[in-house]
Amino acid sequence: MKHITSILALLVLSVSGCANTTQTNQAPQTIQLNTLPMLMGTWRQAPPIEHNHQLYWLTASEQSGLQVWDQTGTLLGQFAGNTENSDIRVLANQHYVISTVERESGDTLLLELALPQGELTLVKRIRNPLAEVEALCLYQDQQHNIQLFSVDTLGDVQQRVVFNQQQQQFTDVAVRHFIGAPNIQSCVADDNQQTLYLVEENIGVWQYSANPERDASRTLISAVSPFGNIKGEVKHANLLANGNLLISAPEHNQLWLINPTNPDAAKAYSFVLPDGSTPKIENAVTTALNGKLLAGVYDDETGNSYQANIPLNPIKNNSSKTKNAVFLADKQTTPVSRFGDAADDPAIWINKHNTQQSLILGTNKKQGLMVYNLAGELKQSLDIGRVNNVDVRYGVSVNGQLMDIATASNRSNQHISIFSINPQTAQVALLSEIATDLSDIYGLCMYQSQQQTYVFVNDTNGRYQQYQLDLNKKITAKKVREFSLPSQPEGCVADDQHQLLYMGEEAMGIWQINAEPVQTDPQLIIKTNDTFVADVEGLGIYLLDGQRYLIASSQGNDSYAVFALDKNNQHIGSFTIEANIAAGIDGTSETDGLDITSIAIGSHYPDGLLVVQDGRNVMPTQPQNFKLINATQLKQQILHWLK
Ligand code: CA
Ligand code: CA
Ligand code: CA
Ligand code: CA
Ligand code: CA
Repeated sequence: MKHITSILALLVLSVSGCANTTQTNQAPQTIQLNTLPMLMGTWRQAPPIEHNHQLYWLTASEQSGLQVWDQTGTLLGQFAGNTENSDIRVLANQHYVISTVERESGDTLLLELALPQGELTLVKRIRNPLAEVEALCLYQDQQHNIQLFSVDTLGDVQQRVVFNQQQQQFTDVAVRHFIGAPNIQSCVADDNQQTLYLVEENIGVWQYSANPERDASRTLISAVSPFGNIKGEVKHANLLANGNLLISAPEHNQLWLINPTNPDAAKAYSFVLPDGSTPKIENAVTTALNGKLLAGVYDDETGNSYQANIPLNPIKNNSSKTKNAVFLADKQTTPVSRFGDAADDPAIWINKHNTQQSLILGTNKKQGLMVYNLAGELKQSLDIGRVNNVDVRYGVSVNGQLMDIATASNRSNQHISIFSINPQTAQVALLSEIATDLSDIYGLCMYQSQQQTYVFVNDTNGRYQQYQLDLNKKITAKKVREFSLPSQPEGCVADDQHQLLYMGEEAMGIWQINAEPVQTDPQLIIKTNDTFVADVEGLGIYLLDGQRYLIASSQGNDSYAVFALDKNNQHIGSFTIEANIAAGIDGTSETDGLDITSIAIGSHYPDGLLVVQDGRNVMPTQPQNFKLINATQLKQQILHWLK
């Protein structure tokens, strides 16, 4: 949707005659190309590499393969092979990883480069069985793992982890794949901004999130004529340290400097060969050396690369990003059995006799209630309909006996489904169903006072009903209160001790109301904003040192916001859950429901457990599931935020 809007916007601009902004009329600044002997007869690319304030060149040629040169033209190292399309990242102090495609085999190669020796060693060969790789680029994620993007001739984009930072070793873990576009000529990733750029020859430069937990939608940031200012086809993207891009447009001898956050301010450069003639620049790969920007520039016309000094006039960044804390999941549940948006809301049941035998109940809104153990294995599937939200309470009198129970909102029949949980066998069983008079039952949570157990349910119009359960003799429930929020809520959580109910109105924020069935109005206590982004989804309360912290799924930016309930509901920070490569567990995104406990569960979770629904289960791509996060990470982060 996004990209269509951008093309339309650009089309409208050009039709109305406003597209030809000043930069096309301005003569592009000319950059002189200089000859270096070792860059003659190179093939496709000659990136310069800065290492300890010294300059090195990595050249590729059909006859000699990959070669590493020092500044004076001394050959340091070599790797025989017909390769192209290299990209580079730092591994550790003296070591670099280089990705490249081997033409004959079609394989992607990962090489380790040691500097200053210039030694090149093949460390990994990745087969590309489906189609030829067109573009290849490396990306260092927030945890410093090195990932590889490859785009093939079918437009399929593959993302994989190739170096595990934690274990300091090369690996090959498929993360996700998505359909990019046909005719992708090159790609480049901005590690700081977690952004991937794909250059589509006859369209322009597409921007994606490089984080697999973000939406795979794209934005066209720069377009070729007639949609935009760039004349002719675009070929290569090079990233500068400040996030600016250099995009080559060889047909018209243009190199565009573009700031993705401010694309209207783009500037064009052109090149001149040492003999004064005009080149056909395929690519310009830069490195910064002693404050100067240096490029290896490949000219398709002469088949040579040249050295060039690029004038440094960076275009200023328009965006500011706040950094979230990063947590890792350490377990995940079996994926649900249905594709699409199916998993929704979890509830943790703590087995007080043996906390290691605790359970996670998770709704599958296309099937029923799923029961998982702490290893994430599916133990039971109660196929009772489209259950949406689930919650748990302990020590409820059922026929005179104290039992633990779960309740779930069931959209198949507008009922509240009631389950018993047997602490001896850890078996969950459907006890009964209670009819409601809601037209479209949606969210649900439970509240337990000294005497009574209640269920709150709401419908999609914002209408709440509070039911008081009576599970003795006959399973019944009495509606004791009704109230409304302005628009659709879903996530809710009750603080039994303080007799308060917190409710997430998806578009607006978080409301609070007395959980006792008394006549009072709900109060809006937290509003959505730039960091706490609608939809507001799952809510949970974490206790630390006698203080209450409300954890809320900020679905619009794939993060979780933490509010100090006992400090005027102040936002103290946000976190994201990112991939745990060593454990083979992806991060989380677009979270609906969540549950959290501060109660120690075995020795593994001494500070409790957070369970969240994951809207995009990748690494590899599978139906949705729930992720388990050790709450020690949250505890330490809260203490850090409060310092
Ligand atoms: Ca969802
Ligand atoms: Ca729940
Ligand atoms: Ca929702
Ligand atoms: Ca995920
Ligand atoms: Ca996964």
